[in-house]
Amino acid sequence: MLIASKFPQTLGRSGWVAMMPRRTPHPSLDQTVSADIAIIGGGFAGLSAARRLSQLDPALRVVILEAGEIADGATGRNSGFVIDLPHEVSSEDYSGSGNDARKHDIAVHRMAIALARDVANENGWGKDIFDPCGKYNIAMGPQGDKHVASYAKQLDKVHEPYTLLDAKQIAAVTGTPSFTSAIYTPGTVIIQPAAYVRGLADSFRAPVTLYENTPAVSIERQGSSWQIRTPKGIVNAEKIILANNGQAQNFGLFRGQLLHVYTYASMTETFDPKRLGGERSWGATPAFPMGTTVRRVQGKEGDRVLIRSRYTYNPRMQVSEGAIARAGRVHDRKFDARFPTLKGIAMQYRWAGAMALTWNGVPAFGEIEPGMFAAIACNGVGATKATASGMAAAEAAMGLDSWLVQVFRSFDAPKPLPPQPFLTIGAKANLSMKEWSAGIE
Ligand SMILES: Cc1cc2nc3c(=O)[nH]c(=O)nc-3n(C[C@H](O)[C@H](O)[C@H](O)COP(=O)(O)OP(=O)(O)OC[C@H]3O[C@@H](n4cnc5c(N)ncnc54)[C@H](O)[C@@H]3O)c2cc1C
Repeated sequence: MLIASKFPQTLGRSGWVAMMPRRTPHPSLDQTVSADIAIIGGGFAGLSAARRLSQLDPALRVVILEAGEIADGATGRNSGFVIDLPHEVSSEDYSGSGNDARKHDIAVHRMAIALARDVANENGWGKDIFDPCGKYNIAMGPQGDKHVASYAKQLDKVHEPYTLLDAKQIAAVTGTPSFTSAIYTPGTVIIQPAAYVRGLADSFRAPVTLYENTPAVSIERQGSSWQIRTPKGIVNAEKIILANNGQAQNFGLFRGQLLHVYTYASMTETFDPKRLGGERSWGATPAFPMGTTVRRVQGKEGDRVLIRSRYTYNPRMQVSEGAIARAGRVHDRKFDARFPTLKGIAMQYRWAGAMALTWNGVPAFGEIEPGMFAAIACNGVGATKATASGMAAAEAAMGLDSWLVQVFRSFDAPKPLPPQPFLTIGAKANLSMKEWSAGIE
């Protein structure tokens, strides 16, 4: 029997959730139910798996267990970039692999974006929730400029379109003279992540049932099927899809294979759009993977700026209020350096969120025990990678040998992490070194 040693922690109030109207969560499970497939985790991976399952067989009884409320996890509190191109946050230059692998990655990411686009179309969402506007990769100095230029060369190799922007051109977009160059790529979609994941969660109808505030507490094999216990209920299921990212380790799974890295965001109060020229809605990832992500968010009551930066290694999967405050001070400095005309505008929300990386950047995917499938290890880019991995897990659980399943099965297994204390020392030193080399970016 696998017993959960702990459950996810809520890490500060995310601005994305705070900006939304109150929502009544789906009821928690308080009885015994049967399912063909039970999914543990209601993030990108779990909900995309459920959606794919119901497409493949609308009569399939699917139960989704989410430990907290939808959108409280990393899926609802990220920066909202659904990125089509290779974007390995732990690599030096985002690419992380050879040309063929890059092309596969791009095709997989675009399948994930297609799922998200279908959800947006079904819900009739506007650009405030799903904006296929592309993104900027943005530099703040000569080092960043070099990275922008080298990224363009990599895109040439895989024949992907882009536009290079000089300081004046990117200033016309961002309304600030702080950036020195940028590269625009058109395929990224920018979402309001909390609205997206809530919309996806609320789109399910019987026989797909979502239970919120219902952590899976234990998982036990019962003959050829599985029994999952929750605090007040039981799910008897033929198959399980594990889609709880790093928290899978709390069940003793993938021990010594997952790196628990946290990142942090702050969002300003609303400001009068006249205080910042340029476009009112745009998103920029940093020229250096370990640098600072920036978004301007247009709203009816005024605009906001989101700053995401800092990575910390937290093997115990816990982050203190102090760590959020410390990251917040870094965000304030980054914000002041980028937006001098917004002096005096304060941060209203600050939060952190969990990611699970593997040493070799691969997903933890596949049938790990008969009838138990894993869609774990988002590697920091879960809007596309976890979505795709959930879709692939659904197809694998249905016995399909699709192209997507083949791609996911072709990844190496996650490499074992070095033993402690070398792991902690090495991971912290590596993150610090990469953050230091990202400098002002
Ligand atoms: C601040 C921030 C910014 C980011 N920006 C981006 C970005 O712009 N683009 C991008 O692609 N990625 C981004 N990421 C990363 C992205 O959010 C993750 O990669 C993604 O959320 C992973 O999706 P997932 O479904 O695998 O896991 P999660 O989103 O972590 O979902 C797993 C779910 O499982 C639930 N769970 C855990 N244990 C249990 C249990 N025992 N029982 C039931 N449920 C359980 C959790 O509550 C959680 O809701 C960012 C992350 C953060 C924190």
